[in-house]
Amino acid sequence: MARPGTAAAPLRVAIIGAGPTGYYATDALLHKEGVVVEVDLFDRLPTPYGLVRLGVAPDHQKIKSVTAAFDRIAQHPRFRFYGGVEFGKTLTLVDLRSHYHQIVFCTGAQTDRRMGVPGEDLAGSHPATEFVGWYNGHPDYRDDIFDLSVERAAVVGVGNVAVDVARILCRTREELLSTDIADYALEALSRSRIREVYLLGRRGPAQAAFTNPEIKELGELAGADIAVRPEEVELDPLSRAALERSEDRAARKKVEILQGYAVRKPSGKSRRLVVRFLVSPVELVGDATGRVTKIRLVRNELYATETGAIQPRATGEFEELPVGLVFRSVGYRGVPLPGVPFNDKWGVILNAKGRVLDPDTKRPVVGEYTAGWIKRGPSGVIGTNKPDAAETVECMFEDLAQGAVGTPEQPSAAVVDALIRQRQPNVVSYQDWLKLNRLEIENGRAQGRPRIKFTRVEDMLAAIRQN
Ligand code: NAP
Repeated sequence: MARPGTAAAPLRVAIIGAGPTGYYATDALLHKEGVVVEVDLFDRLPTPYGLVRLGVAPDHQKIKSVTAAFDRIAQHPRFRFYGGVEFGKTLTLVDLRSHYHQIVFCTGAQTDRRMGVPGEDLAGSHPATEFVGWYNGHPDYRDDIFDLSVERAAVVGVGNVAVDVARILCRTREELLSTDIADYALEALSRSRIREVYLLGRRGPAQAAFTNPEIKELGELAGADIAVRPEEVELDPLSRAALERSEDRAARKKVEILQGYAVRKPSGKSRRLVVRFLVSPVELVGDATGRVTKIRLVRNELYATETGAIQPRATGEFEELPVGLVFRSVGYRGVPLPGVPFNDKWGVILNAKGRVLDPDTKRPVVGEYTAGWIKRGPSGVIGTNKPDAAETVECMFEDLAQGAVGTPEQPSAAVVDALIRQRQPNVVSYQDWLKLNRLEIENGRAQGRPRIKFTRVEDMLAAIRQN
């Protein structure tokens, strides 16, 4: 049989997950010279863009403008979007293998890592992923309840997600009004009684995972003063030597910014955002009703491991912070997909450069690939996924050139389309999505906001039908 990739027999590719990586992979596939590729992009939600819509903070609208590039990619005549189609439910791996030559899994990291301390599951203790989903209008989290009537909240971790969560908790209603935060979250946060937010880092300022623009932004909040303890941002000898040796100017700048905050006088804003270092949670303590009331912390010291990494080590010194809400923001984690080999330790699909590997033979599974966070773990910014997807696509074309592609019985765009519509009558096309997008923007305009999101799947489907 002729190798696929011609006008008469296009290479048929299914991509699972319509986040940034799904689009970057699509783009690389559709622009390969000399190979005719057809891409079907699937998402379990009716809406595309993944974390750009549902993860990037609503007060970071500029970052969200990357969706204009995604929409341009979607205009390609050999591209189709299928929203509301869940891998493993609407379509199984067996279905995909019988209709596509290649399958790419780009499902991101859909859950969170745990801290592993007692009390983690008390009421009032939440994974940051759920709060992020809630304020961004994710249909799965829109009905979650966060008790914003308490006065103090702790966010564990000092990555950019922790910074997002702390910042959103500290924003004023006026600041949130210019964002596309979900309307119910805007109302709930406007009524919030939270006065103090603690951001808790287990290592020192030189090792903090947040980036400089993000930590600078925390010093410019309209309604919250930032507070840092001078002794916690004083560099220890190990970190000082490591910074002096390294070329990492950004890390030096980060420490400078934080030391600047340590000498800042409070200006009397109604909220306080306290950034702490060298502390680890050891327990969340609850009341008789099972609600968190305190977080118990141990003070850490830093030491160098055999490989030279600077790590925290508990001292015998403890303290307690009275808090009614805790958000753990200690990293995302990938979720296994039915039938797809998974590396449980790393929380990623078992792969080499994006080629899915058979767990027994460690050899590539023909026709199956992965890209993005579910390939390499939850690190980097949106743009990091572009070269990551390109690496995977390169492997896909190398394998095609070797004749190592799947052998679907029915590699037909029309046949799979009919199957999908039969299994999921409410499938959402790109045209449908663009309609929803227009409606969200129009609804926002009336209130001077960038958009007002639909947050329930039924509402999205009703709006598509009626317009
Ligand atoms: P991250 O950058 O990996 O940060 C995780 C944080 O959790 C680190 O501070 C880590 O400390 C801490 N941590 C891990 N285990 C812990 C434990 N058991 N106890 C206490 N602290 C613990 O992850 P993320 O914040 O989830 O972000 C994921 C990726 O998305 C990152 O690449 C981030 O830059 C990116 N992102 C970017 C933006 C933006 O550009 N504005 C916004 C959001 C997310 P250690 O360093 O000590 O391990």
